[in-house]
Amino acid sequence: MNNKTYNAFETAQKQFDRAADLLELDQATRDLLRNPLREFHFSIPIRMDDGSMKVFKGFRVQHNDARGPAKGGIRFHPQETIDTVRALSMWMKWKTAVADIPLGGGKGGVICDPHNLSLTEQECICRGWARQISKNVGSHSDVPAPDVMTNAQHMLWILDEFETIKGAKDPGFITGKPVGMGGSLGRKEATGYGVMITVREALKVLNINPENTTASIQGFGNVAQFAIELFQQMGGTVKCVSCWDQEDHTSYSYKKENGINLKELLSITDSFGGINQTKAKQLGFEILPGDAWLEQDVDILVPAALENQITAENVEKISDQVKIIAEGANGPTTPEADKVLDKKGIFIIPDFLANAGGVTCSYFEQVQSNMNYFWTKDEVLGKLDVKMTAAFIAVNDFAKSNNLNMRDAAYVISVDRVAQACKDRGWV
Ligand code: GLU
Repeated sequence: MNNKTYNAFETAQKQFDRAADLLELDQATRDLLRNPLREFHFSIPIRMDDGSMKVFKGFRVQHNDARGPAKGGIRFHPQETIDTVRALSMWMKWKTAVADIPLGGGKGGVICDPHNLSLTEQECICRGWARQISKNVGSHSDVPAPDVMTNAQHMLWILDEFETIKGAKDPGFITGKPVGMGGSLGRKEATGYGVMITVREALKVLNINPENTTASIQGFGNVAQFAIELFQQMGGTVKCVSCWDQEDHTSYSYKKENGINLKELLSITDSFGGINQTKAKQLGFEILPGDAWLEQDVDILVPAALENQITAENVEKISDQVKIIAEGANGPTTPEADKVLDKKGIFIIPDFLANAGGVTCSYFEQVQSNMNYFWTKDEVLGKLDVKMTAAFIAVNDFAKSNNLNMRDAAYVISVDRVAQACKDRGWV
């Protein structure tokens, strides 16, 4: 997250303005869709393990709920700002629209670093978050989920506090719950698999056999790990992964020219996706600077970490061999870099299409939780494949028939769907 130079919300608004121009939207619709419908800022006082009190800042932004309850994750991050949450909630509303699921867009966050918090302190933050926002969220209004540095356990703590306040069980209030506690099988795989389903479809469009293709990935968290798993099942080779070192908390690229072994890399990774560099060296990984993942001679790049990673400063370093960029992260490419990628003729699978698998599976989880009947993992992943493939094909067909790139096509489809829902409700 590079907030010194880039503001994610400005990026999100610039992208929206472009789509609004293409769609020739009227001023009222622009005003409504450009800014959040509602946002909540609150303080979460916590008694720390050493007995002292500390106050954490929390947010929830409901960007739009015309198509259904606001939907989106809660991030724990030391550099969280209201603008990153605003941007991410805006991207969520395009994501649910492009995936064509009956949900809106929201996002939440707490400024904190879970690396430095005990589990008890994290539990207190989750329960405090739920207490501050419980009046304004719920299965029919706003449904949170895990995101950067939050997981199924955090979701269960939030749900437990919420249900205690409400005095009733309401498992559809939150998604990404543990399996067996209302969670869906396939949820942990869904975002990463979804990214690679869209890559598989892009390779078909480009007439490239996935076997023998190579990739370089930024990030080694939940999205990247499962994206790598499916990519390898498709026959691809991952040459380079960039992520944090557990010890000095700096980003490095870990490379193996002949392809990384996922199990081997997982064995030296912590629960936040940080790698043990010393062990990586022992296992024969080449350790390169954090940015090196971007410069590799590979067919596919997958930024699956944070926003603003491909910028005007580094975009020219991308190899001419790269044919596809699949944005696993939210907002990894700045608008300036995007223009350069477009000129280079790289096939971009935009973030809110590429990583829509997570929220699509969250929707399946909500459906299962509400009817209290759970599907098998194969059923879930089968439905995920159908949804993601349909979303990809719709965007690709629209791009071809309107002579647009994939990002513009995805934006026009999504903005049009949300604008139409607002019009139908009489909001604009
Ligand atoms: N945090 C994920 C995303 O950015 C999933 C959100 C959700 O499931 O609601 O798409």
